[in-house]
Amino acid sequence: MVVYNFAAGPAVMPKPVIQQIQTELPSLNGSGMSIMEISHRSPAFDAIIQQAEARLRHLMAIPDDYAVLFMQGGGTGQFAAAPLNLATKHHHIAVLDSGQWASRAAAEAKRLGIAADVLATTKPDHYRHLPTMPEALAQDTYDYLHLCLNNTVEGTAYTTLPEHGDTPLVADMSSNICAQRYNVSDFGMIFAGAQKNLGPAGVTVVIVKRALLSDVEAVPSALDYTLFDKKNSLYNTPPVFAIYALNLTLGWIEDLGGIDAMEKRNREKSSKLYAFLDRSKLFHNYVEPRDRSLTNVVFNTGDADLDQAVVDAAAAQGLMNLKGHRSVGGLRASLYNAMPLAGVDALIDFLTQFEKEHEYYVQR
Ligand SMILES: *Cc1c(COP(=O)(O)O)cnc(C)c1O
Repeated sequence: MVVYNFAAGPAVMPKPVIQQIQTELPSLNGSGMSIMEISHRSPAFDAIIQQAEARLRHLMAIPDDYAVLFMQGGGTGQFAAAPLNLATKHHHIAVLDSGQWASRAAAEAKRLGIAADVLATTKPDHYRHLPTMPEALAQDTYDYLHLCLNNTVEGTAYTTLPEHGDTPLVADMSSNICAQRYNVSDFGMIFAGAQKNLGPAGVTVVIVKRALLSDVEAVPSALDYTLFDKKNSLYNTPPVFAIYALNLTLGWIEDLGGIDAMEKRNREKSSKLYAFLDRSKLFHNYVEPRDRSLTNVVFNTGDADLDQAVVDAAAAQGLMNLKGHRSVGGLRASLYNAMPLAGVDALIDFLTQFEKEHEYYVQR
């Protein structure tokens, strides 16, 4: 049975990458040692981490005045690292509350004693569209404005950025990094855990404008951007295997034509699924069409038991992990870079068939 994994994260990785890992795992470059066994200060790993950085810089067109860091602690770690490193002047950040991950970022800043103003929220509308800034952002008030560019749980994504004047933007790109094109110089800082589009869990990418960095003493070393920049992400032991796999994944993205090619594929996949959902009488996506995510498509039947029946019947046919996030329920198909169009076609065929067999529900 062909299996398609629609999990939100950790998520599907490219087959050729998994195969290359399998081939190389016992002995990296004929060394007789596994990538999991070698020193992070060895020439072999140095070549890997440098290639990973060079590939990411090239793919995302990252300007030279931005540092690229490989850290640990996931997106959640960055909810703390960003305010600790960057909220050093006003000790005050602004947040647009577009969903669960944005509100967690605000909560984590507050936990660290940094004020976080939620300027707008679409929570009362179940986050079915993105919040818009109520008025012009107050200047010289906030160290940055936090945005979650792709709301993994709620299935929305920013294509145009809110007006933010001179206040830097900090972007959580955890679930759409390298899946669609953004202009890095529009942001002060970008972060993403690898486990959605860039490989296995364990490494977190941070892209930060060096001009925003200062020597801040109160930052734990493991979260210190300035220190990581100085030490080329090798201050302490980095997640060697995860960086190796991330590098292979970036190589795969390059081979397929880079981010623009990824975005084209992701648009094709998601439009096909949204078009099906818009036609369907049983399955519905309630997200405002212009705010729809390319990578996380949420939908439901309106009946929790029936949603669960869909998840189970799909899994029996190799369409795995379609359950929506536990906080919202329903169904979710994550269509990250490594999900082929054939997976989306198989999903649509399955949903069409399921709908035919459940006409009773449609007619209610
Ligand atoms: C998954 C995710 C996170 C959390 O990532 P962890 O690595 O589990 O901490 C944060 N933000 C977004 C948008 C996510 O999709």
